[in-house]
Amino acid sequence: SGKFFVGGNWKCNGTGDSISKLVSDLNSAILESDVDVVVAPPFVYIDQVKNSLSDRIEIAAQNCWTGKGGAFTGEISVEQLKDLGCKWVVLGHSERRHIIGEDDQFIGKKAAYALSEGLGVIACIGELLEEREAGKTFDVCFQQLKAFADAVPSWDKVVIAYEPVWAIGTGKVATPEQAQEVHVAVRDWLNKNVSADVSSKTRIIYGGSVNGGNCAELAKQEDIDGFLVGGASLKGPEFATIINSVT
Ligand code: 13P
Repeated sequence: SGKFFVGGNWKCNGTGDSISKLVSDLNSAILESDVDVVVAPPFVYIDQVKNSLSDRIEIAAQNCWTGKGGAFTGEISVEQLKDLGCKWVVLGHSERRHIIGEDDQFIGKKAAYALSEGLGVIACIGELLEEREAGKTFDVCFQQLKAFADAVPSWDKVVIAYEPVWAIGTGKVATPEQAQEVHVAVRDWLNKNVSADVSSKTRIIYGGSVNGGNCAELAKQEDIDGFLVGGASLKGPEFATIINSVT
């Protein structure tokens, strides 16, 4: 459903020098044309990346504030992100949920505001290992999904990223079958709780230890519409392999 979508989440990594090298590797990579490609640099390097990276690749922020800017020390507003040329924002990432402590309601607010201002939202969901082992994977994913669904007025600019927390940064990738199973369940949930149209059109991408070696098998799954890549997106050639895995 929809164009294949590959995002590179650089997280809190890089310096001006390493990012300049990564951008130049991405600029010289040959990328499959029928894939949407987005990278999410740390806030402080967005301007550098925007000014040096090919327009072929769009830019996402890794977070945003819940509303207009003002007296919110340390926050970054959606207006500021748009001013820098961002087209997307990653919201609900497990590191923000579980390390920083963001909850569903707070994340929903951000999603609603970002969409109202025209940014696309990469809406992340996913279960912890103990939740999977307790048989709660679907419950957890549906609850996080419902919080997005309750907040967003339209799904046109939303991409859902299923990122099982136990697979993030662990080298322990979900099997294609494990990922596919959750992606189908998410699509069914959208069909029952939002609409058939949103269910068939919304891209559901997988994240969690995706790399150049495992991307092709994952990309073959019917309901995997792309990837959200962490560590492997910091290496230009490997990220290009992942982008091109759809073919
Ligand atoms: P890794 O690819 O490093 O496991 O990270 C995935 C992720 O969190 C992308 O948002």
